[in-house]
Amino acid sequence: MNYLLTEEQIMLKEMVHKFAKERIGPVAADNERNHRFPADIIKEAGELGLMGIAYPSDYGGADMDYISYMLAVEEVSRWCASTGVIISAHSSLVCDPIYRFGTEEQKQKYLPDLLSGNKIGAFSLSESGAGSDAGATKTTAVLQGDKWILNGAKLWATNGNEAEVYILIASTDPSQKVKGISAFIIEKGTPGCYVGKLERKLGIKSSSTAEIILENVELPKEALLGELNKGFKVAMVTLDGGRLGIASQALGIARAAIEDAIKYSKERFQFDQPISNFQAIQWMIADMWVRYEAAWLLTWRASKMKNEGMDYSREAAMAKLDASEAAMFCANKAIQIHGGFGYTEDFNAERYYRDAKITEIYEGTSEIQRLVIARSLLK
Ligand SMILES: Cc1cc2nc3c(=O)[nH]c(=O)nc-3n(C[C@H](O)[C@H](O)[C@H](O)COP(=O)(O)OP(=O)(O)OC[C@H]3O[C@@H](n4cnc5c(N)ncnc54)[C@H](O)[C@@H]3O)c2cc1C
Repeated sequence: MNYLLTEEQIMLKEMVHKFAKERIGPVAADNERNHRFPADIIKEAGELGLMGIAYPSDYGGADMDYISYMLAVEEVSRWCASTGVIISAHSSLVCDPIYRFGTEEQKQKYLPDLLSGNKIGAFSLSESGAGSDAGATKTTAVLQGDKWILNGAKLWATNGNEAEVYILIASTDPSQKVKGISAFIIEKGTPGCYVGKLERKLGIKSSSTAEIILENVELPKEALLGELNKGFKVAMVTLDGGRLGIASQALGIARAAIEDAIKYSKERFQFDQPISNFQAIQWMIADMWVRYEAAWLLTWRASKMKNEGMDYSREAAMAKLDASEAAMFCANKAIQIHGGFGYTEDFNAERYYRDAKITEIYEGTSEIQRLVIARSLLK
């Protein structure tokens, strides 16, 4: 699909492909199996500009666009979906809302370190009782004098264990429900704010998923991100962008599954011939590629719409829904094509399958994406 890309986007894609294949590919399976956060790789990604692709150089970004971001997350996720989500959560869920909703002081204070990858960010919206129903947040922020006092427990923050900057959503007026929610920026080490349980997961084990506990956390008034009681909008706009990141991650997983399945089908002999000679295998490969390219086009379109400042909420939901289901489809077929070997850790197909599943769940489940799409069609 290079004909849809600019020269600059193709160069970026090739650069990230080389970096990911040489630096991430060889260590991905071992890191994932051992729940090891790839700190050295993230540092290098920062040096290459991958932690702040779509943001202006005035704040330390790489001055590129959201299609470049999509391509980079896909290329990284082709080799390691954990590294893909570390970059995606950091960029889409933390850099983006600070850039979009932050005051000039907040941008100057946080973006240079985040966009260069010197500091990692995490976004903390979910709670035990507030998942799909993100507005049901029970964490509170109460203004006392000129300080906000935060109390509560957030769940599932990707990068939560390594982050030095958190975007956190809390209720500032519980009587108003979603209209009484606000966003805050919290720095690591703020007294009373600490990392709780780290989740043991099915896949993407190199990325941390952490509980964030808040006990009488005092924040200055300037820690508010965006307008008071408009935090639900901050969260929803942020998740639109996040869905492009997760769609791109899913594309990377799908492509990994396809490339490995093609390679294996040519090398594996049964009945005195490569299994790629069998029509049953050829049809699986054809179906995988159609699913991948269709999802790629949807993701490219949504990224282009974001670049152009259009409303792309429905298109982001469509891209994320389709790409995540394509990733599951392709990972499943990749195991099938590998036969029994695909079920073992000797091949990467089982990792792709485990990693693919989460793309149907986080940043809005597939049911929530369908809800977003249907609501926009029915309004
Ligand atoms: C590995 C991992 C990383 C994550 N990273 C982050 C992060 O960085 N930051 C963050 O804030 N959160 C994060 N999350 C949370 C994630 O976004 C939520 O898990 C997700 O939104 C679903 O919420 P839930 O788990 O509470 O499921 P629930 O909302 O309880 O959903 C359970 C089931 O009910 C369905 N359902 C719920 N409501 C409806 C409805 N109205 N219509 C139809 N079906 C419905 C769902 O689709 C699902 O099938 C992460 C989660 C995981 C597992």
